[in-house]
Amino acid sequence: MNRKEKRMETSMIHGGKHSDEFLRSLSMPIFQTSTFSFQNASEGERRFSGEEEGYIYTRLGNPTVKALEERMAVLEGGEKGLAFASGMAAVSAVLIALTKANDHILCSNGLYGCTYGLLTTLKEKYNIQHDFSLMETEEELRDRITDSTACLFIETPINPTMKVIDLRMVAKVAGEYNIPVVVDNTFCTPYLQRPLELGCDIVIHSATKYIGGHGDVIAGLVVGKKDFMDELAMNEQKDIGGVLSPFDAWLLIRGLKTLHIRLDRHSSSAGKIAKYLKHHPLVNEVYYPDIESPNLKGQMSDGGGVLAFDIEGGKEEAHQVMDQLKLIKIAVSLGDAETLIQHPASMTHAVVPEEERKKMGIGDNLIRLSVGLESVDDIWEDLEQALNAGAGKKKRT
Ligand SMILES: *Cc1c(COP(=O)(O)O)cnc(C)c1O
Repeated sequence: MNRKEKRMETSMIHGGKHSDEFLRSLSMPIFQTSTFSFQNASEGERRFSGEEEGYIYTRLGNPTVKALEERMAVLEGGEKGLAFASGMAAVSAVLIALTKANDHILCSNGLYGCTYGLLTTLKEKYNIQHDFSLMETEEELRDRITDSTACLFIETPINPTMKVIDLRMVAKVAGEYNIPVVVDNTFCTPYLQRPLELGCDIVIHSATKYIGGHGDVIAGLVVGKKDFMDELAMNEQKDIGGVLSPFDAWLLIRGLKTLHIRLDRHSSSAGKIAKYLKHHPLVNEVYYPDIESPNLKGQMSDGGGVLAFDIEGGKEEAHQVMDQLKLIKIAVSLGDAETLIQHPASMTHAVVPEEERKKMGIGDNLIRLSVGLESVDDIWEDLEQALNAGAGKKKRT
């Protein structure tokens, strides 16, 4: 069943080929096996040659993992999905697949910290260069593309400053040069944004976040065109080997079933918290996706659950505010039922040199919040008391 046949919410629960063959089990069975036996030697030979479809060994394919991969392809509107052991296994597999020594990668002006770390390694070991682009205008984007640009790598909204990039515009320009556009869609999930439908080529997820949604699994997903995905499966997935375990795939299939409901709540609560923060005297700036921006019409259907804000002061004040929290947990990651707070400059983006961090808009006074599924009033009460107490301005009521 593809997404055009049914609406998004239905596809989250039914998308992909269904498991009638598995004793009509309603929940996808967990095929907790490393290998599959052949009826005879010639069947083994036929499967290895590709003459016959069928399972061989779980690193090459597993029914539980495949059910997840098919559902994700339906949800993103792509031809084929692949699951990886982590978001970073997915990012590294895709970047290694798309580049060779001496190539160039053009990135959005802000990236997940470990993606930045990976780019640094690729540069040091294989002279694969990278640059950052604001991706705000066609002219600036064209200026940044070089003869060796092998791909564009984009996060939108950008973590943690929540700036949104116009994917239609980027896909149009990249298309003129025949350069594939890769989008890390972790913050949105296909429920809020579908880059492939906007002309981009490859979508990546850290499924650890909203897709799993319960803070109990590390996983990655990639969706794209069949030819590219087949190569990714045969080379980077099979030979580097960062595959997802069947049990973790099952957790993600389960998570997907409630993704739309969770994201509706994450978005509405985050929107409210962003509004409250804007009116708080100790908050200088609030960063939350501006989905109403005229040139982004329809790109994101809602703002999502993550926001960031600058407080009065620097690192010390930011840490002090965080230390006053009682309900909200200090933790990296996002997309969980629990509200999580972190300090990018000293945590997720500590690997990024200070100068680069500043260019990305990550000051020492920036705090990132992943708004969870608790009562929004409880989340705000905790945040408000921490802001007031942390800044030494205890409000007496
Ligand atoms: C968490 C995250 C990753 C890395 O995913 P892991 O599952 O932790 O490996 C990549 N990109 C973004 C935007 C993320 O938030």
